[in-house]
Amino acid sequence: MYPAVATAGFRQAESGMPRRSRPSPFLLSVYTVRFNVAQLLKSAAGASREYDLEEDITGIDKELDVVKPLRGKVKFLRTGDGILVTGHLQTEVRLPCRRCLTPVVVPVAVDLEEQFRPSIDLLTGQPVPLDGGEEEATRTDARHMLDLTEVVRQNLLLSQPMSVLCSPQCRGLCPECGENLNEGSCKCQHESGDPRLARLRDLL
Ligand SMILES: [Zn+2]
Ligand SMILES: [Zn+2]
Repeated sequence: MYPAVATAGFRQAESGMPRRSRPSPFLLSVYTVRFNVAQLLKSAAGASREYDLEEDITGIDKELDVVKPLRGKVKFLRTGDGILVTGHLQTEVRLPCRRCLTPVVVPVAVDLEEQFRPSIDLLTGQPVPLDGGEEEATRTDARHMLDLTEVVRQNLLLSQPMSVLCSPQCRGLCPECGENLNEGSCKCQHESGDPRLARLRDLL
């Protein structure tokens, strides 16, 4: 379904394919970006795998209006005590123009560099205690599934632009009647002749 590229020397296990769980009808529609990393955890430090991703992440966060699948490459590198995930991914989100509120679609890049550690020791089956400062979101689960959803969600929230404009010349909404001034002028009186007010409006 999704092209997965195994690095030379490592056979691509079917269980290592990106998996997407179906959204439950009782929950907010959330897709997850998960990988089975049991084989990689059994490999020696230095082993790696690469995946080409194309994942629907609609509903990953209620604050995010994601309009395109998340696309790009991720690389999993077996390190001494876990898996280092690096990747360059891209998607697009819809944000309101800060002046006229018209929805604007903007690209957002997600650069990942995250160390994941197992929550269960693969050899002994014993739970691995959380390290100081370590988050549960960067641990593989009891079935050795590595879930990128939470780190992608946090990264997207930080990477999306603080504010966008539909165009640099956007004239915004009339403060009195709410009319979109890009679509024509309204009947209200405007002090648009005053350059100081125009400058002030630019700051809004
Ligand atoms: Zn606008
Ligand atoms: Zn008006």
